[in-house]
Amino acid sequence: MLKRRRILVVGNWKMNPATLARAEKLFVDVEKTIKNKTLRVDMAIAPPLLYVGALSELSGPQKIEFVAQDVSTHESGAHTGEISAAMLRSHGIKCAIVGHSEMRAAGESDESINKKLHALLAVKSVAILCVGESERDGNGNYFGVVEDQLRSAFLDIKMDDVKRMVIAYEPVWAIGTGVNARPEDVEEMRLFINKVLTDLYDRATAEAIRVLYGGSVTPDNAAELLKQGAIDGFLVGGASLEAKKFVEIVKISDQYAKLA
Ligand code: PEP
Repeated sequence: MLKRRRILVVGNWKMNPATLARAEKLFVDVEKTIKNKTLRVDMAIAPPLLYVGALSELSGPQKIEFVAQDVSTHESGAHTGEISAAMLRSHGIKCAIVGHSEMRAAGESDESINKKLHALLAVKSVAILCVGESERDGNGNYFGVVEDQLRSAFLDIKMDDVKRMVIAYEPVWAIGTGVNARPEDVEEMRLFINKVLTDLYDRATAEAIRVLYGGSVTPDNAAELLKQGAIDGFLVGGASLEAKKFVEIVKISDQYAKLA
């Protein structure tokens, strides 16, 4: 039985909504439904970076953390279009999603993912490292895929640093498809991730790292995934663009945290 960590629910807005006005409305709609509640879960949103300044002005007492959707491997210099970990931190953003399957599909390499983790750690920030297989075959090859992703991402990352990382298990075939992984398969992968981390570091380190699930999470499947999946929260894509659905997932997670 795995130890429970504090649940984290992250909404990845990707390149949405199309205008600042719509982003503000979505953010306010999320804020207002949780503003007077004491939540037992951590909550974060990864909006397009350009919106963060305006959205943070709208932040209420219930603190929603902002997470970046990516970070540069570089510290500074001639890297047009890139934003460094230090720049993010200077805007209060201490966490970035790294290795999202959409970035991997666009050519992001394991080496670049590892460099991004080092770049974040160099300024005492952290990553939500996404791992996950593209397809499920009958031979269990997906375990090897996830193991390779973890080993290469954490190359030369120290034990004390890795403890602060978050892993998001996101099977690519479940992202944006409306077909979530079965809770029992999520649990199996979660235990496998724990085994790989124990092998790479030690048991206490493995137990300290939060593992989220992402891939077509909705209010209809969140409770079951939490209960059976042995995960520590969610990385939510599509459903985070609808305030009602995202807040419902947060509430289900909060309720679960209360009972766990
Ligand atoms: C994602 O893109 O990280 C994701 C989990 O998307 P969705 O929830 O839409 O499947």
